Amino acid sequence: MEAPPYLGILLSQDFGRACSKQMYCFRCAGGFCLHCCRSHAGGHHPGEQRLRIAEVRSVRHGMCISAEDVNGVKYDWKGIQRLRNGGKKFIPLRRFGVLPQHGMPLNCINCGDPTYTKRDYCCTGCKKEHVDGGKGRDVIEALLATDFVQQTPMDVFCTGCRRLFTSTCCPEHLLAHHPPNTAARLVRVMRHGGWVVTPSIDLVGLPQEALNQIQVIEVGGLVTVPICRSEEQLGGEAGNLCFSCFKVIDAEFSYCSLQCGGDDMLFGA
Ligand SMILES: [Zn+2]
Ligand SMILES: [Zn+2]
Ligand SMILES: [Zn+2]
Ligand SMILES: [Zn+2]
Ligand SMILES: [Zn+2]
Ligand SMILES: [Zn+2]
Repeated sequence: MEAPPYLGILLSQDFGRACSKQMYCFRCAGGFCLHCCRSHAGGHHPGEQRLRIAEVRSVRHGMCISAEDVNGVKYDWKGIQRLRNGGKKFIPLRRFGVLPQHGMPLNCINCGDPTYTKRDYCCTGCKKEHVDGGKGRDVIEALLATDFVQQTPMDVFCTGCRRLFTSTCCPEHLLAHHPPNTAARLVRVMRHGGWVVTPSIDLVGLPQEALNQIQVIEVGGLVTVPICRSEEQLGGEAGNLCFSCFKVIDAEFSYCSLQCGGDDMLFGA
């Protein structure tokens, strides 16, 4: 039996890897990271002018957006303090977790927090709260609603790019990054009780006779198969040992996971 070309690469991925958003696209009104979406402008917005994509990073314990990159965004950023980091200026998004210690009369006129520099507002959120209405308020609301801190597990593998990414970092990945009619497909990666699994229907090109020997786990109404071995025991009717790793598995199957089945049946290891 022959393995589809992407399978070995899928099995070698680091499924413990997560990403967090570090860029913000004002056209999409959403964040992304440069691992998951490498050429956002060209892929998602081909030929578009006046696109605004800004770097977001943590500066002095607060998430900040690059002041230079928001030039041209239809919002009045005046009055919000700027912080220097690596030769660039950054504008804080929300109130700081750790506040500057100083006895100077530098306070945010909205929340009263001490600020680093003499400006009216400590952060974008405070200006938005303090100023009713105004142009670009919706733009700022979408930006402030974006989570740049949370680490999100990568939940899709692209057989064209041959790597894992996070779907929320790159929605419509095939449309954006692969010309129509290319062979690239997405393989969903899900977590279930200590197992990393994928829907069987996503495993295009995998011989059915190989697939039939790998134990299945139903997740949210989908028939899935484990990608990697796991220490976790499944609840099913135990009856067999995995031919490769000797873990207890369901009676109908020969292998615990694609990893074990692949080694034995497809890669001849
Ligand atoms: Zn975009
Ligand atoms: Zn990402
Ligand atoms: Zn993308
Ligand atoms: Zn404030
Ligand atoms: Zn791709
Ligand atoms: Zn096994």
